[in-house]
Amino acid sequence: MTGKNAIGNQLSAKGSITFTTFNPELNVENETVYTEATSEEINEAVELATLAFKEFREIFGKQKAIFLNTIADEILALDDLLIQTYCLETGLSEERAKGERVRTIGQLRSFANLVEEGSWVEATIDAAQPKREPIPKPDIRKMLIPIGPVVVFGASNFPLAYSTAGGDTAAALASGCPVIVKSHPMHAGTGELVASAVIKAAQKTGMPNGVFSNLNSSGIEVGQQLVLHPKVKAVGFTGSIKGGSALLDLASKREEPIPVFAEMGSINPVVILPKALENRNEEIAKTYASAITLGTGQFCTNPGLLLGIKSDAFSTFINNLSQEIMEINPSCMLHPNIKKGYNTNKEKVVSQDNVTVTANYELEVQNNYASQSVVTVEGKIFLENPTLHVEVFGPFSMVVQCENEIELEQVISNLEGQLTGTVISDNNEVADYLNIISALQNRVGRIIFNGVPTGVEVCESMVHGGPYPASTDSRFTAVGVNSIKRWVRPFSYQNWPNDLLPKELQNENPLEISRIVDGVRTK
Ligand code: NAP
Repeated sequence: MTGKNAIGNQLSAKGSITFTTFNPELNVENETVYTEATSEEINEAVELATLAFKEFREIFGKQKAIFLNTIADEILALDDLLIQTYCLETGLSEERAKGERVRTIGQLRSFANLVEEGSWVEATIDAAQPKREPIPKPDIRKMLIPIGPVVVFGASNFPLAYSTAGGDTAAALASGCPVIVKSHPMHAGTGELVASAVIKAAQKTGMPNGVFSNLNSSGIEVGQQLVLHPKVKAVGFTGSIKGGSALLDLASKREEPIPVFAEMGSINPVVILPKALENRNEEIAKTYASAITLGTGQFCTNPGLLLGIKSDAFSTFINNLSQEIMEINPSCMLHPNIKKGYNTNKEKVVSQDNVTVTANYELEVQNNYASQSVVTVEGKIFLENPTLHVEVFGPFSMVVQCENEIELEQVISNLEGQLTGTVISDNNEVADYLNIISALQNRVGRIIFNGVPTGVEVCESMVHGGPYPASTDSRFTAVGVNSIKRWVRPFSYQNWPNDLLPKELQNENPLEISRIVDGVRTK
């Protein structure tokens, strides 16, 4: 069997570089051979997207909503074939695959609702005042418009929800931007199936050819060429800090620099306050042992850093956590390369001076399964050694024991940007630590009270992003309908004839959307 690139409606495999995906559970290569996209195919996909943009940007919200809902229907129609392919390429369970499909479908439908309703364009009208003294005021009307062809890099750890028709793609299509997906090589088959669903939906709903393409690759060159292509206008990425930063760098050096919205690494600090440790020590340890190992630790919101103030209760917590985590059966990682990365990064941290390993699953594990670990360091050591701040992607967490509240605040303030911060508190205990909370707020995109950071609800109020390097632009979220704002730009019409304006800005408000007219919100 051979896998193909989808360049708009056309399937293509012109190149000579081929690759296969890998079944980490069985430790064997999968059968289908994929062909990496050639420079010619990359160019065809971008040219087609550029042509499609002319038409797609003018398509009304209601039609885009039908397109997005049809993509969701077509993904569901792939049924068991999609679930089986997902499992074969990731080692993840059928349950997880089905859960991620629900999330993906939900995201597509929520963007469909958003664009069908239409108010998301933030239409703002300031009427002319021709008699204003000393200078007459012109009529100015503003709305958000799509930016142009977007390249989306699929994530290894979310083959559905953050890949081919995941959040970035759904948001970009909803905004009116054509999408070219740089498929993740670890799940090229899942990507190809989802791509076939998107293309079917585009054909069924009369979208322009080239509104969506899916390109395969086995190395970084295809992605690099896409980011450098002069007709690509923005990039969405989920993955490592190394990969995201390299793409940001590349995009900023182009003749026309373009935005790269990358959601990257995070160690997600969890602050455990003293009274909570005294009263709920075992419960917190149990909860965190399972959060650290959930999904074999392969979540960007994995709790990789547990912070507290030295005490007998904190020492007991470290023991409890270490015991609890050893009770959990190791599980499979996504790919041998991810397992290799986990072992290498873990080894690097463990080999630093003054790091104590308190739990390490020593029994033999199956190929591609990860041994979970917990380590501990003192606050002073953590502050002095940036190697200890680096994400170990997998079932790993570091407990930092601070001398006092001042050192705890220093540790938090010196952290790199993070997606989340969590506070474990006994009732109102947190009220005595507002300086700590303030320091945490300054470093993260979302703060959680008495919970775990894993689990990212898809809703309008969600912020999934944070200061660099959690993301490349902390002003935007990668999850929830507000992520559409990454793919648009504000645009003003001055003194433009009413009947030539987009419907969103016409006097009569034919779409009945919510707008701000002369400073007043109105329908
Ligand atoms: P990755 O190495 O960042 O790769 C993600 C995608 O970007 C891949 O399609 C890759 O292409 C491409 N890419 C990477 N570097 C590039 C560059 N310099 N130029 C152009 N394209 C580039 O992430 P991954 O493959 O998903 O996993 C590797 C490691 O990333 C993990 O072990 C983990 O440490 C980290 N990771 C973190 C998160 C998180 O949420 N924090 C999520 C996933 C992964 P190719 O694969 O074709 O080379």
